[in-house]
Amino acid sequence: MSEVNLLDFDLDGLAAFCDGLGEKRFRAQQLFRWVHQRGESDFSRMSDLARPLREKLAGAATVKAPRLLSEQASADGTVKWLFDVGGGDAVETVFIPEDDRGTLCISSQAGCAVGCPFCSTGNQGSRPKPSTTETLGQLWFAEARLRERMSVLPVEAAQSVQGARVISNVVMMGMGEPLQNYSALLPALRVMLDDHAYGLSRRRVTVSTSGVVPMIDRLRDDCPVALAVSLHAPNDALRSDLVPLNRKYPLAELLQACTRYLDTAPRDFITLEYCMLQEVNDTPELALQLVRLVRGLEGDSPALRCKLNLIPFNTFPASGLLRSTSQRVNEFAHVLREAGVVTTVRKTRGDDIAAACGQLAGEVRDRTQVQQRMRREPIRILAAHSGSDAR
Ligand code: SAH
Ligand code: SF4
Repeated sequence: MSEVNLLDFDLDGLAAFCDGLGEKRFRAQQLFRWVHQRGESDFSRMSDLARPLREKLAGAATVKAPRLLSEQASADGTVKWLFDVGGGDAVETVFIPEDDRGTLCISSQAGCAVGCPFCSTGNQGSRPKPSTTETLGQLWFAEARLRERMSVLPVEAAQSVQGARVISNVVMMGMGEPLQNYSALLPALRVMLDDHAYGLSRRRVTVSTSGVVPMIDRLRDDCPVALAVSLHAPNDALRSDLVPLNRKYPLAELLQACTRYLDTAPRDFITLEYCMLQEVNDTPELALQLVRLVRGLEGDSPALRCKLNLIPFNTFPASGLLRSTSQRVNEFAHVLREAGVVTTVRKTRGDDIAAACGQLAGEVRDRTQVQQRMRREPIRILAAHSGSDAR
């Protein structure tokens, strides 16, 4: 019998697996806590499980994160890991410590079919999709590893599980489009939220999407966590160039889906991400158009309760694009704030190890294909899109 990896299961999945071994649900809960709260992978050390069950598990199951290829730590405390997900593909995971939180940025895919031209993952094209094991394995591994690195008390010795955790927030903002790998994503989210596992609140888990409208609705019904939407442009013409999925799900549909999402969302706003690209999407006119868009004054798009997060572009040569100057970013932010739109500018972290979230593993694959695609489809220049009638 081939071994089952327990990192593939949410609690219901594990209960079904235990049922197959003739074990009751509360055993699954115990096992779940061992794996996710204590980070234990050796069944023989799970002391409160009966010996026959430990022996059965040893023959039928395993707890194994994807193979670690490298670990790099930045001077500012950021840590980046690269994991092998088979077939020559790798995914990256980044831990970003801050005063009041520790955020893990997880990858959902080794490449991405959406193909945004400013994203090195998109430029790696569509790759086979990681499973729940690989998605969750990033969290399972990182929590244990960080504890080890930081010499944090093991969970059983700490006051509470929450108090002992190093990772307090998870963002699905690494490589790949999480809503295009939904069957792996959903159990992984459920484990993050489960009190018998990581016990994170819905507000502390964020899914970032380029706008897969039907799946935003699925997530709203199945497991509404915090949502970030990669907007990058305030009109359809420009957005279709920057986020090709916009041709299928244009802005009006996307903003309508965001509004529906707010019905069940754990926060009363949606985060809109906007990657600042010099002379492409960073002018004051486009900032004004963005204000009009989120107020419901552009085309058929509804007004949206949102916060803007401006992301400095992490350059990579094949993109042919440049990072907006800080002056441009500040002017853009000023227009939004003056209009009452809450706006933050993302800090760049881990620069010395190229660990910025959302721009990962670029070095891993050959970029030849990308460069060919870029030559075929150059981004049109700003002038073509700057007017509000460019829809
Ligand atoms: N596919 C999802 C989540 C992964 S990308 C999405 O697109 O939302 C996470 C964030 O990083 C997105 O907002 C994305 O637009 C941004 N991003 C991608 N490449 C980037 C780059 N080179 N510089 C800055 N941000 C980038
Ligand atoms: Fe895919 Fe997101 Fe990168 Fe676009 S930005 S190519 S959707 S990972």
